[in-house]
Amino acid sequence: MIVYNTLHKKKEELVPIKEGKVGMYSCGPTVYNYAHIGNLRTYVFMDLLRRGLAHEGYKVKSVMNITDVGHLTSDADSGEDKMAKASREQQKTPYEIAAYYTGIFFRDIEALNIMRPNLTPKATDHIKEMIDFVQGLERGGYGYETSDGIYFDIEKFPAYGKLSDLKLDDQKAGARVEVNDEKHHPADFALWKKAPKEHIMQWESPWGMGYPGWHIECSAMSLKYLGEHFDIHTGGVDHIPVHHENEIAQSEALLGKPAVNYWMHGEFMMVDGGKMSKSLGNTYTVSDLKDKGYDPLAFRYLCLNSHYRNKLNFTWDAMDGAQVSYKRLLEAALAHKKAPAEDDDAIAPALEDFFGAISDDLNAPKALGFMWVLAKNPHKSKKIYDALVSMDSILALDIAKCEEKLAVDEILPPEVEELAAKRSAARAARDWAESDRLRDLISQMGYNVLDTKDGTKVTRK
Ligand code: AMP
Ligand code: ZN
Repeated sequence: MIVYNTLHKKKEELVPIKEGKVGMYSCGPTVYNYAHIGNLRTYVFMDLLRRGLAHEGYKVKSVMNITDVGHLTSDADSGEDKMAKASREQQKTPYEIAAYYTGIFFRDIEALNIMRPNLTPKATDHIKEMIDFVQGLERGGYGYETSDGIYFDIEKFPAYGKLSDLKLDDQKAGARVEVNDEKHHPADFALWKKAPKEHIMQWESPWGMGYPGWHIECSAMSLKYLGEHFDIHTGGVDHIPVHHENEIAQSEALLGKPAVNYWMHGEFMMVDGGKMSKSLGNTYTVSDLKDKGYDPLAFRYLCLNSHYRNKLNFTWDAMDGAQVSYKRLLEAALAHKKAPAEDDDAIAPALEDFFGAISDDLNAPKALGFMWVLAKNPHKSKKIYDALVSMDSILALDIAKCEEKLAVDEILPPEVEELAAKRSAARAARDWAESDRLRDLISQMGYNVLDTKDGTKVTRK
């Protein structure tokens, strides 16, 4: 497979560290709120990569963190912890907030056929690993203590900025008035923060009570689950200049060598030409899509129809277009499914073109085009349907369910959806009594609830 490596700013052939195996780490959600469809676009990209690798025959180990502490309202070191802020505003403990939004997140990715990563470790379960990491950096002379935390000394790591071509001196010159004059360099970042008494999340550490910096979470958890050297690290492009530079600095400083071979980044989803982000209040969620009557997989179709390295401007018109095209694709597949299984010369080249496009840096829009050409083949054949289903191992648009999907309205009414989301949160919090109560309510409304290893499925009885 050819992939675009942000580190070298070019496409490269993927050569895994261990033959036949790929370890990949993806920066996961900060669970203080609903994931918006821009966030989810980045996870569709993660999923596409994982499926593409699996199709090439690699055994993939996919790890994605759940950030439930330490991510401040600015990606750098200013502002309040997002979890603490949500906890204050919603009058719940940070753990309740995290359990609730993690439950919804898993439901959302399931609705988009995003396979759940093999491991989804939570930051709060790895405080010890993070403390060990920070101590290691201190021992190596990369960390220093100030009155409010332990900071990474960027000037001790000359390669700082290699992912985004940042020049440290430019940063110094361009830095805003620095609020923390104990820092050696304005771009030094917190590894560990000392907690004021009233801070809601804090742990014992060699530096007194405190909580981890956001960047250390990913370095510590990727080290624990994928080892000192792994193949691929993914995230959204906004992570390139701060979060991933900082991860690189921490991991390389501790290990004395690069931890990651390929850095891959998904471009942003925009809204009306501007950035979609929670702080700007212009975000939509999977529930918003469902409430408006869209199939979540029509949103997946929309994502696949543009390359992961291009910006995608979200509009409701584009969403309408995706929904219509998606339905037509299912109809085209169904016509083949019902036809006799006859050979067709179009099948072999279509499969080759399709998987060739995926192997070339995940060119999903091109692959989707090849799928369409085959789907529209005038000769209808069950063998064409089988080929479409095989392509769908990558695109995951539920082609194999075309008949059921076209027959029934799969969209759940909002009341049922809300109860199902509450039930997921109750299950995440291991509140089985509440979960059973909600199951009964959903059942009384005429829906079955099925808990599978991939999550909960709610279907009309
Ligand atoms: P967060 O939960 O804010 O840490 O973000 C989760 C993921 O979504 C990260 O990989 C971000 O880079 C990514 N992301 C945030 N905003 C957008 C957007 N508008 N479009 C695409 N990805 C995004
Ligand atoms: Zn991360």
